[in-house]
Amino acid sequence: MIDLRDYSTFKIGGTTSHVFSLHNEKDTIEASDYAEKENKRLIIIGEGSNTIFSDNTDTFVIGHMNMKGINLIEDTKTTILTASAGEIWDNIVVHSINAGLSGIEALSGIPGTVGAAPIQNIGAYGSEVADTLISVSVYNRKNKSFESLTKEQCEFSYRDSIFKKHPEQYIILGISLRLSTSTPSLPSYASLKFDPEKEITGLYIREVVLATRANKLPDYKLIPNCGSFFKNPFVDVETFKKIQEKYPNIPHFETPSGLIKLFAGWLIEQADCKTLESKNIGFYENNKLVLFNKGDANFDELTHVIQTTQNRVKEIFGVDIEPEPNLY
Ligand code: FAD
Ligand code: NAP
Repeated sequence: MIDLRDYSTFKIGGTTSHVFSLHNEKDTIEASDYAEKENKRLIIIGEGSNTIFSDNTDTFVIGHMNMKGINLIEDTKTTILTASAGEIWDNIVVHSINAGLSGIEALSGIPGTVGAAPIQNIGAYGSEVADTLISVSVYNRKNKSFESLTKEQCEFSYRDSIFKKHPEQYIILGISLRLSTSTPSLPSYASLKFDPEKEITGLYIREVVLATRANKLPDYKLIPNCGSFFKNPFVDVETFKKIQEKYPNIPHFETPSGLIKLFAGWLIEQADCKTLESKNIGFYENNKLVLFNKGDANFDELTHVIQTTQNRVKEIFGVDIEPEPNLY
């Protein structure tokens, strides 16, 4: 049996007897057909940095995405970068910066593969992959066909996409991004401290982003975690006003949709959720939005911490917070 803890950076989960290593389109069809024939779920895994397995995984088939390749295609004022799904996301950020291209430098240091990037429309410091994405090539398991989805067809929104709405239907094989040859724009997040004396380059933005992230995030190779554990919630103005009456300093952001974005990390900190941590599941000291496995956690223990945290935040603020990692 294969231990699925090795396929998740949270390092919990059960076992399975079937892991397919996907190197090309033929492997992809084989894994998909096998799962269908055996009436089993096919879960595609990249680095497992946003995936947590339960103990009940023995009927799963895992497709470990290993398709490689990065290409640059010059256009007039832009360059198209294509990358296969098994490439490491941060490597394509480095590749683009080294080629003098801008557009994804603020997404430096996000763990995981290229193929997983469109799933939750990865984002950081006001950038998201949808900003530069042109298309996603997929194997559509429902139609049994290879297709190219345009950015519009991907239905991207905040940490969301069509791939989350139709889980397990699409196997992402690669993406193409339109990058610019112009000077990158400086991300405006207050947590990033830029030196006004310095020339703005992709490399400089990357350095500041990586240094800032290192202060607030545990290295998952040393401390098993899946990054931010809860998504930021959005509430209507009326709900927000009620909360603000009680908590005048509540950080918030108005969004074009009219909804107000609240910060899950702040809600968790204010609700003193650290007191809810258990023997093997902790809230990371520098960033309470990050749950981590102290070493010997299991899915039941994690589920308990998730639920008590959600209940506490609901009780105090009347707001629902949802886990960001994909729980299987
Ligand atoms: P996995 O965990 O392997 O998979 C994630 C989901 O995508 C699963 O549902 C899986 O089935 C599916 N999937 C993966 N590959 C494919 C494919 N080829 N085809 C179809 N489905 C697929 N996220 C952010 O958005 N911003 C951040 O700043 C950020 N920071 C993080 C920091 C840390 C320390 C950690 C641990 C995580 C962070 N994350 C962040 C979350 C995570 O890095 C991203 O979600 C990343 O895209 C996951 O990539 P992965 O290859 O590890 O995906
Ligand atoms: P931060 O910069 O301290 O910001 C705290 C929170 O405020 C974040 O949730 C962020 O929302 C929000 N925020 C700050 N400035 C904002 C602005 N100008 N407009 C809108 N929202 C704003 O956050 P951090 O914890 O150090 O993380 C830095 C960035 O990396 C964030 O973008 C975060 O999403 C990303 N990150 C994500 C993960 C993950 O696993 N998903 C893990 C680590 C870091 P947003 O989260 O929407 O940006």
